[in-house]
Amino acid sequence: MNMIYFDSAATTIPCENAAEAIKNTFESFGNPSSIHSAGLNAKKIIDSARKSVAFSLSCKPDEIIFTGCGSESNNQAIFGLAKLRIRRSKRIITSDSEHPSVSSPIARLEEDGWEIVRISTKNGALDIKTLESELAKGCAFVSIMLANNETGALYDIAAVRKAIDKSGSGAIFHCDGVQGYLKVADKRLISKNCDLASFSAHKIGGVKGVGALYCKSGIKLPPFILGGGQEGGLRSGTENVLGIAAFGAAAEWFDSSVRAHISDIYSYLTQLFSKDPNISLHIPEKHIDTVLSIAVKGVRSEVMLNALSAEGICISAGSACSARKGISHALGAFGLPKEEIESTLRISIGAHNTTDECDILFQKITETANRLRR
Ligand code: PLP
Repeated sequence: MNMIYFDSAATTIPCENAAEAIKNTFESFGNPSSIHSAGLNAKKIIDSARKSVAFSLSCKPDEIIFTGCGSESNNQAIFGLAKLRIRRSKRIITSDSEHPSVSSPIARLEEDGWEIVRISTKNGALDIKTLESELAKGCAFVSIMLANNETGALYDIAAVRKAIDKSGSGAIFHCDGVQGYLKVADKRLISKNCDLASFSAHKIGGVKGVGALYCKSGIKLPPFILGGGQEGGLRSGTENVLGIAAFGAAAEWFDSSVRAHISDIYSYLTQLFSKDPNISLHIPEKHIDTVLSIAVKGVRSEVMLNALSAEGICISAGSACSARKGISHALGAFGLPKEEIESTLRISIGAHNTTDECDILFQKITETANRLRR
């Protein structure tokens, strides 16, 4: 049975360029901190990948810090900013639908006495008016994601920047860019509007175990992992040279043609699913085209997931990380009622998906739903 994979928001199938980069660097075993030729060779590979990632974001290479994953980048940014800004203000503004790698460190700071303001993202749109009035009360930093991992909603980070600048609060803006990175055409969007931003290679055709943090020049973020002082002293630990090489290759590969293909598949899927009156589509006005959230009336998502999995089809309910943690807070923040959240499926699209796979997916979901309802 051939697998049909519609779970690219959980992780993408590594692209061929990433696989090739790993093969080509496999023998470059040196430690990039060593000053002999083996070390210098490994360092060259990292420098080249750093340039590719920086180019994809239209920023300077020394503004990119490689980390172990998107979660680490988020934790580094949030705990680093809290330490950096604590004397200025103990107030943080975030949204009510962040990924746990943002919401959990922020909840930890709340336990430690920080005041947290969570801005509504109802229907997938950030409430900018409330953000403006909250910024006026003062704020150490803002952490708001670019694109939501469960609904695909694209939050208006340019409006966040504008609101921060208008407020005169001097707040630093961190953005979890993990799902939105490379999914929007404007490659300057993040570097133009954010001070810090997090990324993960395995969401763009790279491999797991490598992420990045964009840190605008001039921001003196205290390090989170201490040790040998790698990555400009911001992230100690011997670098994952192969993973970083693959990250650079994937960042170059994920271009406008990949985006165009994904958008075609998204449109095809939305047209298909709109045909069934028992299926509701949760489509935010502004969204990335990699994530399509739907609810199948009267069928619990885990029952559907298991039935599809038995047919070799991989999708998820909500996000992969919340799969075993009960009701989704992001879908609640979107405004969906509990019964609808319980029957929500996340179909997420990658460069490999075809319209034939969409047809099979639609047929299997509708057939399974009809059988289960009977
Ligand atoms: N932020 C968002 C929005 C995500 O979707 C994810 C992963 O699903 C992460 C952060 C964490 O990334 P990683 O899996 O690289 O730790």
